[in-house]
Amino acid sequence: MRVEAVPDSPEYELSFAATRPFDYHAWLAAWQREYVFFRIDARGRINYMAPSVRDILGYEPDEMLGRDYREYFDIDDPLQLQLQELSARMMVGEPPDAHRCVARRQNGELAFFSLRERRVHSAFGVVDREVMGQDITARVEAELSLRQSERKYRRLVEGLKSEYIIYARDAHNRITYVSPSIERVLGYAVAEMIGQPAANLYGSRSVGDSVLERFKRDSEAGKLVHNFAGEFRHRDGGLRILEIQERPVFGADGRYAGMEGIAKDVTDAAAAAREIRELKEELERRVAHRTEQLSRINEELRASESRYRGVVETQTEFIIRWLPDGTRTFVNEAYARYLGRPASELIGESFFPRVYSEDWTTFDNAIASITPANPSATYEVRGPRPDGAMAWMQWTSRAFFDSEGKPVEYQSVGRDVTELREAADLLRQKENHLAHLSRLATAGEMVAGIAHEINQPLHAAKTFAEAARRNLQAGGEERIATAIECTAEISEAISRTVQIIRRLREFTKSKPVELERLDLNVVLREAVDLTAYEIRRSGATVRRRLAERMPAICGDRIQLEQLFVNLLVNACEAMSQTPPGERQLTITTAAADGEATVRIRDSGSGLRDADAHRLFDAFYTTKKEGMGMGLSLCKSIAEAHNADLRFEVNEGGAGLTFVLTIPTTGASCS
Ligand code: ADP
Repeated sequence: MRVEAVPDSPEYELSFAATRPFDYHAWLAAWQREYVFFRIDARGRINYMAPSVRDILGYEPDEMLGRDYREYFDIDDPLQLQLQELSARMMVGEPPDAHRCVARRQNGELAFFSLRERRVHSAFGVVDREVMGQDITARVEAELSLRQSERKYRRLVEGLKSEYIIYARDAHNRITYVSPSIERVLGYAVAEMIGQPAANLYGSRSVGDSVLERFKRDSEAGKLVHNFAGEFRHRDGGLRILEIQERPVFGADGRYAGMEGIAKDVTDAAAAAREIRELKEELERRVAHRTEQLSRINEELRASESRYRGVVETQTEFIIRWLPDGTRTFVNEAYARYLGRPASELIGESFFPRVYSEDWTTFDNAIASITPANPSATYEVRGPRPDGAMAWMQWTSRAFFDSEGKPVEYQSVGRDVTELREAADLLRQKENHLAHLSRLATAGEMVAGIAHEINQPLHAAKTFAEAARRNLQAGGEERIATAIECTAEISEAISRTVQIIRRLREFTKSKPVELERLDLNVVLREAVDLTAYEIRRSGATVRRRLAERMPAICGDRIQLEQLFVNLLVNACEAMSQTPPGERQLTITTAAADGEATVRIRDSGSGLRDADAHRLFDAFYTTKKEGMGMGLSLCKSIAEAHNADLRFEVNEGGAGLTFVLTIPTTGASCS
């Protein structure tokens, strides 16, 4: 009879047995490797030991005789407890009276035995015990290691992080196993889940049966592992998201028997992912918003930059940046246009060669004066225009310094001031002309006085000439000597006259401005000489407090003389109403700190109509015959000399003091 049998099934065993004859020797050999037989007396001493002990425990049977069998079997060992606990399943066919014990092999290793005893009566009526021991070490060790790994596995399963569930379901999708962690994840007890359709747990957005069906088909087609995620119902009605990995299990017949899987609770992770997604979207929205804002700002910047560039480019002032060696690093449109060359050509080229050699010192001094404390300087230098004509350029340069205070770059703003300078020159010429006219007018006014001044020496000369003639006519040595003395007086008188006329001629001469080193005391004296008659006529007492040694100043003698003449004449005129005894004209000169000061003080009317701020205005006058040009001209002369002219009201209100402050000069006058 041929039996279709599956290995390990009872039918298989039977069919196996039926196909082979009984082999006694083989059986005995197997028996001797597994069983040991011995007999002990009432006190447990071995009085017989079967030789198989040699193979099984490694002892010689004879050496065991007379010894307590507990030296070899049933020794006291902690493993004893585990041995007792082993399931009956392991000990298939183990009789109920069997006793499991731990034994010790000759080499010290532990062995496990299942002992069965029966009492026997010896010939002397003593009760002995015959013991049959089966070496179950291999089986026990297998079982123990199985239990150990099972325990490990269970510990693993049960100690799984709370978010994992291990489960199995059968071919009908009913749950056959689920780890206790399901209680933590979905709130159900293990017991209530076993046998339940897994589909009861599916949430609305779950994978659904159709998908599971597909898995089933896939599984049958050989796909082994599936991953998916879905919503599952929690006992409290809520939904949890589980990520699942499962694989099919097949029965002995090769047919699909269900699924085993592990589910991971990813609800929180999903929520976190959703939150992250939302945050990301929010971030993207913000970035988009910020980008839009930035591009708007950029737009505005571009607009303002182009406006700024427009201002820089369309203005007529030149703007250049340059390195200490003169190399231009930037030029604006106006500058390039002015020079008639493209900016690209001008940048990288030094402008130093453009500066006229006559102005190198001016330029060097101006640039050298720029320091971190005084970061800019204004100067005028000449350079050629594109047509070769000379142009005056006025530049205001500022420097950029490095951390050590060394200039690293300059920025200059400039313009062509040639026309301006020409206009200023013209103005100066006109002023000069005006000054001349004014001097002529003054001279015209003073002419009566001057005539009087000339009259005096001429009159004296005439008198001396007559006296000389009379003495010469009289003859005689003494008379001739007197006549000679008279001619000396005549000569002196004529010299004085000539001097006055020369001064007047000089004063009224039209000549270009001529700068020279001057002693203000001398200039003042000449002015006083010119106005001697006016002063005398005013009845004023003149006090001269001149500094003994005045440092030189640089100026035009005639113009400064004109300035002082105007001030002196005004002072005399202002004192016309002052009581005669109180008319005082004080002229003081002093010098200190690089400045010379001239003070002309009168005791006149002072500011009658309080029009102080108009005093220097052209055509401002309080006099009937006045032109109102005198002080305005004085101011221009002072400015042309880099000097300051102002007035002070005398303390007590009696009269004014006009003060001229002018820089003193060094050895030369340029
Ligand atoms: P003018 O002498 O032709 O009036 P000025 O320009 O010299 O023109 O003077 C302007 C005015 O300033 C005078 O009319 C006078 O009112 C006032 N002034 C000038 N000098 C003095 C002075 N020393 N004291 C008082 N007033 C003065």
